[in-house]
Amino acid sequence: MLARWGFHCYRIRVMRCPYCSSTDSRVTDSRPDIEDAIIRRRRVCNQCGAKFTTVERIQMRDLVVRKNSGKLEPFDREKLRRSILLACRNRDVDEHQIERLVTSIHRRLETEAPDDTVTSVMVGQMVSDSLLNLDPIAFIRFSSVYRKFSRVSDFKKIIDQIPEADEGAAVCELPRTTLF
Ligand SMILES: [Zn+2]
Repeated sequence: MLARWGFHCYRIRVMRCPYCSSTDSRVTDSRPDIEDAIIRRRRVCNQCGAKFTTVERIQMRDLVVRKNSGKLEPFDREKLRRSILLACRNRDVDEHQIERLVTSIHRRLETEAPDDTVTSVMVGQMVSDSLLNLDPIAFIRFSSVYRKFSRVSDFKKIIDQIPEADEGAAVCELPRTTLF
């Protein structure tokens, strides 16, 4: 793989204490989480003594998203996480499952993106496929926004993709969300 490995750590270099804004802090503990490709660092502010944690994430490539309008914007992992979180609201899906989902989609994008560029359609399709396996309601909610549903028949088509065992749970509440 021609990935460029590196730590996405610009926040760490200018890390400010969340309590007093001092940039003078020391690391007291570092815990790598190999599975999620992150390192958690426990810090103590040398100015006010407050303790806080920072997270460094390993980023292989700097991805760019080409939107339907043709406009390019940097891939925003947090935005991806928020849209999935919203689709899963009040469902039996925990934060850890969502984080895993975001990590797996992010890695797939990094692996499959030609020239570091992905399309919003590609991102939306990956999220949609992943949610279909995770939770049918989250899948319907996400699809309705991602595919810009305007008619009841649009829902019918998407519900037909859900395995029969889950159909009984197909009740929709549409969240407002900003998608890629
Ligand atoms: Zn402080």
